[in-house]
Amino acid sequence: MTAREDAVIVNSLVRQALTSMQDVMGDNGMNAVLKSCGLERFVGNFPPNDLEPAIKTSQYAQLNQAIEDFYGRGGRGILRRIGKASFQYAVREQAALLGVAGVALKLLPERQRIKFILNSTADALKKSNAQVNAWVDDSGDRLAYVDATCAICHSRHSDRPICHLYIGSLTEAVQWATGKEYEIVETHCSAKGDEFCRFEVGAAKE
Ligand SMILES: [Zn+2]
Repeated sequence: MTAREDAVIVNSLVRQALTSMQDVMGDNGMNAVLKSCGLERFVGNFPPNDLEPAIKTSQYAQLNQAIEDFYGRGGRGILRRIGKASFQYAVREQAALLGVAGVALKLLPERQRIKFILNSTADALKKSNAQVNAWVDDSGDRLAYVDATCAICHSRHSDRPICHLYIGSLTEAVQWATGKEYEIVETHCSAKGDEFCRFEVGAAKE
């Protein structure tokens, strides 16, 4: 596993994550998790919607770990739902940053629509934090979204991919662009020792 720089997550992204956690877990669940991973300062006190540094990337990863620990077997599903809520928040509150304000994709082929929203997602992350290194891999049959600076698994170790929140966000993003739920598969994960986390867009669910 390569040592990655411990970057920062900005206030607006932490606010987005906490709002989504509150939606999915309720106040009690969210507050218990925040206390369990040393982030009790956010209980009833979300950061403002600006680009100032909020927490370290490794702390954000520990927050994801804490949700898995708190919900046990249900943790992955909870994290995916938080990811979905998080993309919905971005469309609602940050349409300009995400580059989706007034965009009409209907006339584009489906692959182009998916590519558009994956590129928009990577660009929005890069705009909010210059340390982010994420891109879209268009070279294969299947489109893939790649992040070499994934905040969800930073400093974590696992023998299987663990970036469930990311899968939720990308599932919702592709659904926004196509109107269909596509299966998103995490083929590589930094927590396994891979150089990046890679999410492949699979088949559309019937
Ligand atoms: Zn990851």
